Amino acid sequence: MADPVRTTCAYCGVGCGILATRTGERTLEIRGDPDHPANAGRLCSKGTHLGETVGLEGRLLHPLIGRRRASWNKALDLVARRFRRTIAEHGPNSVAFYVSGQLLTEDYYVANKLMKGFIGSANIDTNSRLCMSSAVAGHTRAFGEDIVPASYDDLDAADLILLVGSNTAWCHPIVYQRIMAARVARGTKLVVIDPRRTETAEEADLHLAIRPGSDVALMNGLLAHCRREGLVDERGLDVPEGFWDALDTDLWTTARTCDVPPPDLNRLFELFAATPHTVTLFSQGVNQSLAGTDQVNAILNLHLATGRIGKPGAAPFSITGQPNAMGGREVGGLATTLAAHMDFAPEHVARVGRFWGAERMATRAGLKAVDLFRAVGERRIKALWIMATNPAVSMPDAAQVREALAACPFVVMSDVVADTDTSLHAHVRLPAAAWGEKDGTVTNSDRTVSRQRAVLPLPGEARPDWWIVSEVARRMGWADAFSYDRPADIWREHVRLSRYENGGERLFTLPGEAGRSNDDYAVMAPFRWGGTPFADGHYPTPSGRARLVPVRQARLQPSLRNWPLTLNTGRYRDHWHTMTRTGLSPKLARHREEPLVELHSDDATRLGLVDGSLARVGTPQGESVYRVAISAGQRPGELFVPIHWTDRTSTAGRTGLLPRPLNDPHSGQPGFKNTPARIEPL
Ligand code: SF4
Repeated sequence: MADPVRTTCAYCGVGCGILATRTGERTLEIRGDPDHPANAGRLCSKGTHLGETVGLEGRLLHPLIGRRRASWNKALDLVARRFRRTIAEHGPNSVAFYVSGQLLTEDYYVANKLMKGFIGSANIDTNSRLCMSSAVAGHTRAFGEDIVPASYDDLDAADLILLVGSNTAWCHPIVYQRIMAARVARGTKLVVIDPRRTETAEEADLHLAIRPGSDVALMNGLLAHCRREGLVDERGLDVPEGFWDALDTDLWTTARTCDVPPPDLNRLFELFAATPHTVTLFSQGVNQSLAGTDQVNAILNLHLATGRIGKPGAAPFSITGQPNAMGGREVGGLATTLAAHMDFAPEHVARVGRFWGAERMATRAGLKAVDLFRAVGERRIKALWIMATNPAVSMPDAAQVREALAACPFVVMSDVVADTDTSLHAHVRLPAAAWGEKDGTVTNSDRTVSRQRAVLPLPGEARPDWWIVSEVARRMGWADAFSYDRPADIWREHVRLSRYENGGERLFTLPGEAGRSNDDYAVMAPFRWGGTPFADGHYPTPSGRARLVPVRQARLQPSLRNWPLTLNTGRYRDHWHTMTRTGLSPKLARHREEPLVELHSDDATRLGLVDGSLARVGTPQGESVYRVAISAGQRPGELFVPIHWTDRTSTAGRTGLLPRPLNDPHSGQPGFKNTPARIEPL
């Protein structure tokens, strides 16, 4: 048997280290890496069964133009020619890239450089917009930079952990195991704040099943309590005038708004007030909301004002969904950011442009995901390149996204999978390298950079994403700027940019010794950048102080006559996104074999729904069919459905058809949670 290769899991933002050993032509033995700081040898079910997903079933192995096989030269020439012509005829903002947190940092870097530094548009957004862009916006408002001021070590040092809007036991299982270990080792208390009684909530010391969307009221109420208790210290903070007036609330008012029993809320207030070493870990339940950024800032306000930041075991902790959402943030992977944590301030544009030798720098933010696909539908975007993601399923109002793609004059898809719901609309399909075949870096939720390494040879004519993008850039006339021979070349450029061009004003700086030579890069061990952010009390704002951001609870959605229920969406333990990978593993499929709609027994009785029967779930946006599962974990009046099933896997459970294409106004993150809905027997 071959020696094991140290690499990183393909799935979630925990970023577990893996030892992958090749056991046959397309088979791998997978073990947890005992030396990786994220998981110390542990793996969850998804990571453990990665070896079952590396076969070639359904793979895209050759470039296709339409349905016909083409040479790489012909396909790349066509992509370059169509993008060049569209830009010449309609300007740089008539083209767009839609990329993914599945890309490695090097892939992400090159795609951003091409769009923002050479095409001259910032119309490159990522599916991470759907996942954590409210956390990015919240961090930037409070800290002046998108910094996650926590690490997994803080979970070991905390005496109280609040999990807000996160079914951690299912969605970030190794983090959850670490929390459970801390409970045994030091008696850490666990409070879960989530409308659903999930598997995570079952284990908690306290579960507050709050009314969906009432997070700001809860955090503001908690901060008001801390102030009454004399726990607030404004030193080192910018506190806007009138900030405290907005928090003029008491326990009873907060309990009423959040629809939780006052004694339970009081228990949270007392626990938090008595426990300086508190970590608040939050995820999609906070971010995927029309008030997501305000909800993030309500959490950050609480931690900043009570001094629970910049110390071991005391931090707000945004945990990401995808393996490289954080690497994407570092290279400016969002339409609203530039490389190395810079933005579109004129001095940042000038620095990045100078460093890249840019031909035409984007000078303002581009279209965010929902707006980008709306622009495709309105024919303002005439050439679109989709990399490693399946927006025809995963975007809100997916039916509209399909119509937009069908009408777009030129759609390119670079992906691992040959036939997806999105590929139906692609004029050119380019075969990309998959996990286990590609080489580069990823950054996990706690800022640890790890290598993903190739264990298997590239099958067919598959190529790494960085190579595909660079080849198109060369054909568009920018050969010198994209003359990379290997991922290490791109990594070194990324390190240099982070060290010398962000003016020393950004916390994001990669160590100079990281991957200095090709050999260094080959053996690079995981490392975390940024140390303990804000330990010195200094923030990257003009004043050097953190900002408390006034946030008010938005009006809670009234019950509508035709849509009297509230729909929430989320993940299952053993599936990932649209199941293009986890669907290949029979063992993973067993956990949930079909999409269920979960609802409370009171609603089921009232509406004539029987456990195991079929029901139609509708929203103002669309409808789909699910099997009914009566659940004591649901609040009355609320439904829960999973996100994973697609047209290609099922005629039911098409959850992408249900949410409205509405965004948080600050981050542009779609509000997948809290959609007005109804349900009826089929
Ligand atoms: Fe992979 Fe996440 Fe599971 Fe770790 S917790 S093994 S990164 S899916």
